[in-house]
Amino acid sequence: MGLNKKSVDDINVKGLRTLVRCDFNVPLKDGKITDENRLVAALPTIKKLIADGGKVILCSHLGKPKGEPKPELSLAPVAVRLSELLGQEVKFAADPEVVGPNAKAAVEAMKDGEVVLLENTRYRAEETKNGEAFSKDLASLADVFVNDAFGTAHRAHCSNVGVTQYVDTAVVGYLMQKEIDFLGNAVENPVRPFVAILGGAKVADKLNVISNLLEKCDTLIIGGGMAYTFLKAKGYEVGTSLVDDEKIAYCKEMMEKAEKLGKQLLLPVDTTIAAEFPSPIDAEIEVCVVPSNEIPADKMGLDIGTKTAELYADAVKSAKTVVWNGPMGVFENPILAKGTIAVAKSLAETDATTIIGGGDSAAAVNQLGFGDKMSHISTGGGASLEFLEGKELPGVAAANDK
Ligand code: AMP
Repeated sequence: MGLNKKSVDDINVKGLRTLVRCDFNVPLKDGKITDENRLVAALPTIKKLIADGGKVILCSHLGKPKGEPKPELSLAPVAVRLSELLGQEVKFAADPEVVGPNAKAAVEAMKDGEVVLLENTRYRAEETKNGEAFSKDLASLADVFVNDAFGTAHRAHCSNVGVTQYVDTAVVGYLMQKEIDFLGNAVENPVRPFVAILGGAKVADKLNVISNLLEKCDTLIIGGGMAYTFLKAKGYEVGTSLVDDEKIAYCKEMMEKAEKLGKQLLLPVDTTIAAEFPSPIDAEIEVCVVPSNEIPADKMGLDIGTKTAELYADAVKSAKTVVWNGPMGVFENPILAKGTIAVAKSLAETDATTIIGGGDSAAAVNQLGFGDKMSHISTGGGASLEFLEGKELPGVAAANDK
């Protein structure tokens, strides 16, 4: 399934002011970028537009400044690092209005093949409301618009949706194409067996993902905090584990759905328990592993158990396509990260197409040094989940059709 949207390969930007919405929402600590994957992922599109002789104007949000300038959320450090990565100056257009006199002057002065980065788009209150004024301001800088920000594609904001109403040409970049190709192929046209692995805290956050993936995959694996609501739905004692009591009926329904469709739904057969949730989260903690139907009433499940880790790794071994979103336990604590590490390792070792759906699982895979071993690591957690739900992403929909 290819993406039926015009891309940077379908246009000629020579001499044109080309506004590119990137996802430079990177983690910062004391002004330093601690994970630059999103910057690296944006390079192919930027390089292509430079090579074609466009005037490349980059924009992005960073964090949540809530509509006003916050110096600690300035994109200035990104301009510095991006210059190094590109081997070419990225001029930072510091401007509290994002598109104010400073930014306009910087764009005015651009020559073909030069790059300017605008200030954090969320310095403007209209950004997240998809307001008209800021959309028009952005469009006023651009002859052509390119959206390469997959991580924001599930939102309809000025800088990825509103702006497209005021430019003639709106296309997608290479990263957006790659994300949709990988996720789209996995879900709509997977090489089978297709195994989907879901973890993370709550069932409630992933209701539609569970339901949609059950229809598409051959095996659905559940881990993390959400597993205990399923176990409770099976009638097991789950002690003080994280449970979403309102979703027990839903879990029953999903188990019935799996059976009806002839799909395998794997739940933890054993679980790692402790007396309480670790505090601080990485505190030394005493744990033991028990069968999933023998959790004591005063204990809490915080990771999948050793047998479950083997069971899940075996399922991955037999797969040809694997999609994974969400940790198997409280992986922030090394003692409770074993299940997540085991799953990450099984994905690193298989020849199957492996797709990591952003967020915590992407961070875990990268921290473990398995990044290179995955077919694709999505740059968007929320966006990839909404895509896996089968929803149309507004940021993609807004681009011109082929
Ligand atoms: P999510 O944001 O839904 O992907 O959930 C990620 C969070 O789920 C991580 O911070 C984990 O610590 C947490 N988590 C995973 N397993 C458990 C569990 N068994 N009990 C409580 N929290 C968990």
